[in-house]
Amino acid sequence: MTQYEPVIGLEVHVELNTKSKMFCRCSADYFGKEPNTHTCPVCLGLPGALPYINEEAINKCLQIGLALNCSISEKSLFERKNYFYPDLPKGYQISQYRWPLCINGHIEVEDENGNALMIRINRAHQEEDTGKLTHIGRETLIDFNRSGIPLVEIVTEPDFHSTAQVKDYAKKLQQLFRYLGVSNADMERGDMRLEANVSVGKSNGHPKGVARSLPNYRVELKNINSFRFMVAAIEYEIKRQIIALERGEKLTQETRGWDEDKKCTYLQRSKEEAHDYRYFPEPDLPELILSKEKIQKLKDSLPKLPVERAQQLIEMGIPKNIAFASVVTVQRADYIQRAIEYSKARGVDMVGIVNYIINRNIYARGVPPEQAVSDYQTQTTNIISDQGELEKLAKQAIKENPRAVEDYKQSLLSSGDESKAGNPNAIQVLIGAMMKKTSGKADASKLQGILKLLLEK
Ligand code: ADP
Ligand code: MG
Ligand code: ZN
Repeated sequence: MTQYEPVIGLEVHVELNTKSKMFCRCSADYFGKEPNTHTCPVCLGLPGALPYINEEAINKCLQIGLALNCSISEKSLFERKNYFYPDLPKGYQISQYRWPLCINGHIEVEDENGNALMIRINRAHQEEDTGKLTHIGRETLIDFNRSGIPLVEIVTEPDFHSTAQVKDYAKKLQQLFRYLGVSNADMERGDMRLEANVSVGKSNGHPKGVARSLPNYRVELKNINSFRFMVAAIEYEIKRQIIALERGEKLTQETRGWDEDKKCTYLQRSKEEAHDYRYFPEPDLPELILSKEKIQKLKDSLPKLPVERAQQLIEMGIPKNIAFASVVTVQRADYIQRAIEYSKARGVDMVGIVNYIINRNIYARGVPPEQAVSDYQTQTTNIISDQGELEKLAKQAIKENPRAVEDYKQSLLSSGDESKAGNPNAIQVLIGAMMKKTSGKADASKLQGILKLLLEK
């Protein structure tokens, strides 16, 4: 039987949060501002205006490349990508094609079962954003505030085989951008945009189920502005392509959009209408030369990234899932770090405090880390676990809660007969009553054992 294996490659665009635009001095803080107030001859594409390179943007692009384990090109070049569209006043976008800044990286992703897979990064290159069109009825308005905002494009090899892997990748990239502080990476605002290339190969019983060779077509999915839509669009596309292949149809290269109302992809452009961008080196910008020292310096100054921070926690004895939950954001990771240091100084169990913070979602409640440690300490050190004392408490609970006791006994007698069953959770009522009396200091699991013994006697 023929087995089908989805093959997916991702292109991610991210807007950098630099002070000024990519090739001019206009402010890049454009979101929500009065239209066409952040413009100049360069980003309006007026004849004769000359671009110059924003160093802050280049540094941020390099940080992304380094975090993705890319090689950094000591020599790179900007090129003109020529096409006509009203949001592109120059008639070309300054981008990188043959000589990108960062190439050949990799990142590990996981599927829904926690299986790891290495995804190869083809490139991370620097380019500029276009203006923004707003369609109102039959009219279209143009805002050039976004024109020339620094944009980094990250392209993977077609290494994904499931939407779970793609989703994990997109989330990890977003997390990386935020850790590096290079972008808000907010999908709704369009800081981060996704394009997925999807094809389906026949694995023909190949042991790993992986397609032997790449399908000779790919369908590019555009206009996806949330993780959820991306997953839905790819899932739909995989099904559509398998059905077409089963019917013996030949699939060809095309671009499709996602219709959220109809929950389907629709044809936007086929191969015949594909662009020829006629790339050529940008004559108004110099080659970009980076010294080994500068690259090394940037590498050394990279902040600790999520995987590394989680690894440190794991080495301290913190379970893997708790460790990764601890480093979801830099803020949370810093909070946990402060709590750990404070615990160390006070001789409090560090693994315990991290579990306590994550399991009880303490960080989200805005309790300062020092306070969290103190709370944890009082709760754990004053635990009542003395057998005799707990027995006394249990007897008291039984005396004071006859109805719960009755319920529990009933549940024992009628076990198996649902209709007559008493409340099997009645024991929890008794424990709850004791917790209230002791302000949560009774050792609950011990108490449960003692209660059971007494009740089942
Ligand atoms: P373009 O600018 O035409 O989109 P890029 O080289 O920027 O070209 O991107 C190509 C993307 O398509 C990459 O992410 C690559 O991994 C992916 N890709 C290439 N071949 C396939 C295929 N057969 N199936 C799915 N994705 C593919
Ligand atoms: Mg593309
Ligand atoms: Zn400008």
